[in-house]
Amino acid sequence: MISAIVCAAGRGTRAGFAGNKVLHGYNGLPVLCYSLAVFSPLADEVLVACAPGELQAVGALLTPYPNARPVPGGSTRGESVYAALRAAKGEIVLVHDAARPFVTDKLVRDCIESVKRFGSGVCALPLSDTVAQVLDGNIVDVPPREGFAAVQTPQGFYRCRLLGAYERARADGRVFSDESGVYAAYAEPPRLFLGERTNRKLTYPEDFSPAERVGFGTDTHAFAQDGDAVVLCGVKIPSARALKAHSDGDAAVHALMDALLSAAGMRDIGFYFPDSDARFAGADSMKLLAEVVGMLAEKGLRAQNVSIAIVAERPRLAPYIEEMKQKLADVLHIPVTQIGIAAGTNEKLGYVGEGKGITCFATVLCSHVFPRTDAEKRRGF
Ligand code: MG
Repeated sequence: MISAIVCAAGRGTRAGFAGNKVLHGYNGLPVLCYSLAVFSPLADEVLVACAPGELQAVGALLTPYPNARPVPGGSTRGESVYAALRAAKGEIVLVHDAARPFVTDKLVRDCIESVKRFGSGVCALPLSDTVAQVLDGNIVDVPPREGFAAVQTPQGFYRCRLLGAYERARADGRVFSDESGVYAAYAEPPRLFLGERTNRKLTYPEDFSPAERVGFGTDTHAFAQDGDAVVLCGVKIPSARALKAHSDGDAAVHALMDALLSAAGMRDIGFYFPDSDARFAGADSMKLLAEVVGMLAEKGLRAQNVSIAIVAERPRLAPYIEEMKQKLADVLHIPVTQIGIAAGTNEKLGYVGEGKGITCFATVLCSHVFPRTDAEKRRGF
């Protein structure tokens, strides 16, 4: 019989949430549920160690997993695992951090296999970063990283042996950051098996947000009867007729602004910069774009790359594309190589083909840029 213990009692202080981070949603689903979905079919029972005050909230998430039940945890991770070990019935026990939602079936199977073959199985990865010993903001030693591994979960053991190790550690008043430490100190050196880089731990606020957000926008402006230029991407281009607009009629920038706002889950430009507002009469759309860039920055978002398509029968845009890209790069604060502008005609079809107006499309990829955490600042990073 195999028991899985999922640790869900952490406070997640570093994630900066008011509540338990594993009850927080990732892509709309509580983080804890990801682990339950993997362990429930592979274990005979799943014990979710949670804070006594959260038994009900955690219990509600367990309904789809009939072999899972909440267990009141303690004030430390070790206390919680110890309580769950005593409540568990399996000969083999697999301990997993609920904050690692991307655990896979393969890792769980490899963990069980390692316990059966070697008596224990600790998921671990070779280090890719150099590890330094730090004192008061200075590096005092850089040991060879070959002697180190980054330890993840799941970690599997025979329950009696792990329980025995925990009891001896408790008697000595020693606290360990996970089971591999307890087992190494009071049983035997645990056996490693190869982890997966995707099995990352959600720790900081940015870990909980999908890193990238895509946005799409479109805008059309009709040609006026008069005028001598159109403005596209901030560049004035000679034209037999201007575009009709309340602002400067920069349809490409308007499409881009809508794409940016949309990527941030915000309303459209008509909402923030209404036609009815005299402030925007004849407005320089590049200035409005700069405002939108600032609005996204307040949400911790910035554009990574931008793709714009301009569909116009005339004027000819090819000679102006590089200048247009540079103008956008300056306002978006990204390299010009991150901007693509395609210009084409509509093969004389429809309103664009008849020369009645211009249509622009824009897509943008935005990424989250988070400020450093207070803990990082305190450590001098
Ligand atoms: Mg417009």
